Amino acid sequence: MFRRQLNVEVDAVLDDDMDELLAELNVKSQFYAGEYRCLLCETTITIGNVKLIIPRKDGVTFICDKPSCMVEFAIEG
Ligand SMILES: [Zn+2]
Repeated sequence: MFRRQLNVEVDAVLDDDMDELLAELNVKSQFYAGEYRCLLCETTITIGNVKLIIPRKDGVTFICDKPSCMVEFAIEG
């Protein structure tokens, strides 16, 4: 698997930890309101399909759990 320093892999994270992480990043309410979309396929990100949380200077980016998105992200970064 690919891994980058700023990426947080969430598939092994418990729901409680996810909540904490979202709160830490100040995106929790927007996240649960369905305001985030996958960077690559623009699917609405939910607690059920989020795969990667990528904190950036200008906000937080999410990647969904579709294999095609994971592959694309791994290739294009
Ligand atoms: Zn996607």
